[in-house]
Amino acid sequence: MTALADALGLYVHWPYCARICPYCDFNVYRPRGQDDALLDAILADMTGWRQRTGARPLASIHFGGGTPSLMTGARINRLIEHADQLWGFEDGAEIGLEANPNNIDNFADIIAAGVNRLSVGVQSLEDAALSQLGRDHDGALARRAIERAMSLCDRVSIDMIYARAGQTAASWEAELREILAFGASHLSPYQLTIEAKTAFGRRASRGEQLDSPVELAADLFDLTHDICDAHGLPAYEISNHARTVQDQSRHNRLYWEGGDWIGVGPGAHGRIGSAAGTGRLACEARAQPKAYIDAVAGAGSGLGATEQLSASDERAERILMGMRLDDGLDLEVLQRKTGLTIDIDALDRLGAQGLVEQRGARVRLLPAGRIFADRISGELVPDTP
Ligand code: SF4
Repeated sequence: MTALADALGLYVHWPYCARICPYCDFNVYRPRGQDDALLDAILADMTGWRQRTGARPLASIHFGGGTPSLMTGARINRLIEHADQLWGFEDGAEIGLEANPNNIDNFADIIAAGVNRLSVGVQSLEDAALSQLGRDHDGALARRAIERAMSLCDRVSIDMIYARAGQTAASWEAELREILAFGASHLSPYQLTIEAKTAFGRRASRGEQLDSPVELAADLFDLTHDICDAHGLPAYEISNHARTVQDQSRHNRLYWEGGDWIGVGPGAHGRIGSAAGTGRLACEARAQPKAYIDAVAGAGSGLGATEQLSASDERAERILMGMRLDDGLDLEVLQRKTGLTIDIDALDRLGAQGLVEQRGARVRLLPAGRIFADRISGELVPDTP
């Protein structure tokens, strides 16, 4: 297997959702009967990308969105088969898909199509919380979806949202313990964040409290880590917990380790190519499904914007991503990919404050630094290019 910093992944964005959740700021749309046209466009876009990447086997595919579990198994299988024909797969390649509990009847077809890792977006087990979050399923369906996924697939992750308005430490602990009791090998508990351009953002700007106060959110974060640690699911990234190294998400690790990935589908992002000192290409596909379909039909590519990152821009991004990992940022990879290193004075200062430590070639957050990950990453980026 290729080291993930040197591996290639494929992200497929399926932008449709049966209902748009009021907290969501992803590139999402209500279905408009364009599934066949979009599928054909994504397949053609992949063919174009093969010419740009050359022959490199894929370490992973991830179907995100949107709601990719709305896709039929036949469509998912066509995408996987096409990827196999274009690039082929590394041994043990991860093929992951984000599944909505509402699509429970489609889970068997999704697995039969070739998906080997399911992330079930249950978000909560409480009916009142799910209603508050504007989700289109209840707690009973969330529980059934987890059981169904685990009966079909060895690698199941459960996505949760906490730090919601009205939540207490006791209620979150009870909910988290029930989730852990299902025995899934991976858990992604995310704190609710209020994004400005969402329905929640507009309500919050009118003074409505939709998330937990900052201090309680910090307590819930610590509680989450303590309970998951005690349950044998330590965090390997700020918001991702896994039982073993094999249970970690290979595709997400590829992002955090700084590997290359292709993004296809409306609004998908990608990062390609990195030779020391030259920076790499940041790519973003056209966001609107129709614009994406038209772009692929016209130019053979759904690309909207590309930006050649400078070596120092690439360094800042690699520091931000790498420091999210529990085992930290690999300084040798950073040097090899960008020709640059971190701010050594900042490393000494943050080390003296008990927020980070260096172990061999890696710099990692200490528990006291986890909650300040973004600020600490920013301090490790030197001011001068
Ligand atoms: S289902 Fe997921 S992607 Fe779709 S609107 Fe809700 S949170 Fe966003």
